[in-house]
Amino acid sequence: MRLVILGGGESGVGTAILGKKKGYDVFVSDFGKIKNNYKEVLILNKIKFEDEQHSEELILNADLVMKSPGIPDKSPIVKKLKEKNIPIISEIEFTAQFTNATTIGITGSNGKTTTTMLVYHLLKQGGLNVGLAGNIGKSFAWQVSEDKHDVYVLELSSFQLDGIENYKPHIAIITNISPDHLDRYDYKYEKYIESKFRITMNQTEDDYLIYDADDEAIKNWLKNNKTRAKLIPFSLTKQFEFGAFEAEKNININTNNDPFVMLTSQLSLEGKHNVKNALAATSVAQLLKIRKATIRESLADFQGVEHRLEKVLKIQNVQYINDSKATNVNATFYALDSMTSPTIWIVGGVDKGNDYSELMELVNKNVKSIICLGVDNKKIIEAFGSVVDELIEVSSMTEAVRQAYKMAEKGDTVLLSPACASFDLFENYEDRGRQFKQAVQNL
Ligand code: ADP
Repeated sequence: MRLVILGGGESGVGTAILGKKKGYDVFVSDFGKIKNNYKEVLILNKIKFEDEQHSEELILNADLVMKSPGIPDKSPIVKKLKEKNIPIISEIEFTAQFTNATTIGITGSNGKTTTTMLVYHLLKQGGLNVGLAGNIGKSFAWQVSEDKHDVYVLELSSFQLDGIENYKPHIAIITNISPDHLDRYDYKYEKYIESKFRITMNQTEDDYLIYDADDEAIKNWLKNNKTRAKLIPFSLTKQFEFGAFEAEKNININTNNDPFVMLTSQLSLEGKHNVKNALAATSVAQLLKIRKATIRESLADFQGVEHRLEKVLKIQNVQYINDSKATNVNATFYALDSMTSPTIWIVGGVDKGNDYSELMELVNKNVKSIICLGVDNKKIIEAFGSVVDELIEVSSMTEAVRQAYKMAEKGDTVLLSPACASFDLFENYEDRGRQFKQAVQNL
């Protein structure tokens, strides 16, 4: 079998190693540059590859193609493969057939990484031999090639899910759904929603789907479509006999008639969205029979994830918070919602068709000043110019942080939560977050 891999990044190289081990004739092709450390691995494993080109004659005679999730269906080479009816799958689909490990698949528009890391933390503290993969860290394929773990927690983007056929997670989580990445779905929100629900399409009665029962898009889909998985809803407003919810300042998780209850205030992560993430993650821990004492400790000591409402420093009683990963309005909504003191909000970047109206109430309530940090700030100024005491535009992170420092009074919070992509002024959201933290350190 000739396996062609498009994309020589983490998932591509991992798939190449696993494919080679399983006896495939493997060829890796990347239209961009393959990083040197990956090239070394490919050479070491005697795997053929090319970069900065796609040799069509070598690619179009594949029996099977693994496409990295970053490559859109519209790219010319993918179109040609489709014309020839050559099967194209994702790393997750390819890899799952070679392992008996239990997998937990986590998708959604926001909260995937946080929930994935929290599930991983709970299971690891619970003594399971668990691996972390998908969009995070070392690829699933690579880890399976080394036969590393009994359980994997996988963060799955909609692009990863578009490339599955038979894969099913034993436990699936859909954290929430709001419009994102619509450029890859012909600007049709329904297509994006369908893509997220592929996570449950192969599940059976022995599997579980954990989902946000307060989410309109999810509720609608479940009303009009079927899944065979056992449903475990979670909610901040409703209560369930079988499910997870918050009531009277406690989280309650009951998937097994032996409820787990804990004060919400004892969770290490703050914000309503993180209560939801905790409800989802704890449901998994309970299904996999982690001891209550361990769950309690792990929820209380989880350190959070960089760039997600990350507390950086307190200077002269002003708290600086890095939420650079908030690349859409919905993520920023939860950040603003969790502010408990007057906030100086650093916002802006590449607009993704943002509708700011849903933030209006929170800005009115919690934000005193706005610092626009983007090349084009027109929409933000239009939306909030007349709502806050002060709104200024800056052109670098250093300037943004210096201005925030000047504006802030004791007890205020300075929040970077851009609601936009970062590519106008930064390499990516990590670069943006690190520049923020550095500028704060420099104060
Ligand atoms: P993802 O991996 O889906 O992008 P992250 O965990 O990295 O999600 O969080 C992305 C952003 O969304 C951060 O700004 C974070 O504070 C916010 N966020 C986290 N969980 C949720 C949630 N359940 N709902 C809405 N926003 C969330």
